[in-house]
Amino acid sequence: MERIRGGWKNVPDNLKTKTMLDQIGMKPSGDPVAEVWSGHQWCKLYDTVVAVPKNRISDKQQEALEKARAKAIADRTCSHCDEVVSKNEINIEVGGARICDWCKKHLVWEAEQKSMISAGHEQFRCWFEQDFVILDTETTDLEGEIVEISIIDRTGETLFHSLVKPVHPVPDDSIATEIHGITNAELEDAPTWADIRDNVQGILRGREILAFNAEFDLKMLNHSCDRSGMPRLDDLKWNCVMEAYRLTQCSEKWISLASASGRVTAHRATEDCQATLTVIENQWKALGLIPSVKINATA
Ligand SMILES: [Zn+2]
Repeated sequence: MERIRGGWKNVPDNLKTKTMLDQIGMKPSGDPVAEVWSGHQWCKLYDTVVAVPKNRISDKQQEALEKARAKAIADRTCSHCDEVVSKNEINIEVGGARICDWCKKHLVWEAEQKSMISAGHEQFRCWFEQDFVILDTETTDLEGEIVEISIIDRTGETLFHSLVKPVHPVPDDSIATEIHGITNAELEDAPTWADIRDNVQGILRGREILAFNAEFDLKMLNHSCDRSGMPRLDDLKWNCVMEAYRLTQCSEKWISLASASGRVTAHRATEDCQATLTVIENQWKALGLIPSVKINATA
């Protein structure tokens, strides 16, 4: 270390003592570079070029600073998943909870799923209180007319069943025929829609009608009436079991009767009515609803 002789007048401007540095808000960084005789002791000198600003923050200030830092972290912490995210990914909910974008999306999705399921359950619960009938039709093709119709009650008893001779015969390449297997030969001696239309209307009038894909059965009833030159059925209260079931499964897509009922059917009207009843009864069971057994008074 250099010893500066001749007192303070020989000390260059860039060299200061600790006290002198303190007075200008600095502190030394590193070792002293020189000494000067003050008259009674050697004073250590530090180079101001490498001196650093003195930390003047008090303990209290330090504490406040740390608190602020902790708060900034807390403000960006999701109260749902505990992840720290960036400020613009945090949503402040009613009640003050901080939820990250991802959790928010997930919670919205979860709430939607729950409300879908409960809407489906509500529908099945509602049917439990009703004296409904279940209807199913088989048709010439997807845009055609009815070749078989069945109506059962909620205990599974058949109220009405008939093959129906269509106005236009079943097309040879009909996909529907491939499904249910009903041929023109079988329908040759069957009644026409005009023969049974009033009977069907009488059974259905004012009743809650449940069908698996109600929209399709309604369309087919209308087609058969139109093609037969008969008035369309009126006073029908349609309910779609396929739609209610879809809700209970949170499915965006339509679900087949076979998947919903767990039953492989031959796709004949009465069997499909029974499978639809199975779907309904399974939901009732899951909801803890036990249908009282209908006791048929023997005449
Ligand atoms: Zn989160």
